Amino acid sequence: MPLYEYYCEKCERTYELLQKVGVPTTIQCESCTGLAERVVSAFSTTIKTQSEDRANKIDPLGLRNVKDPAQREKIIAKENLRQLSSD
Ligand SMILES: [Zn+2]
Repeated sequence: MPLYEYYCEKCERTYELLQKVGVPTTIQCESCTGLAERVVSAFSTTIKTQSEDRANKIDPLGLRNVKDPAQREKIIAKENLRQLSSD
């Protein structure tokens, strides 16, 4: 289940809740009688983008996206060959 962030205007609280996918974006606040609205966390999106960038620098061949180990070996072998022939 994804973790969603909710903000309640009435009690000015922000809190995180585990919710099923597809639940309404407005829910009953857990600490008052108001309604809490789901907020899209810009923070986690930024973190994700940064780690993607870092992963691309560490893994320029994109090996993390290759699930088949044999295919991975092939890509590495090909890259090694490319580096050898460019000398
Ligand atoms: Zn509230």
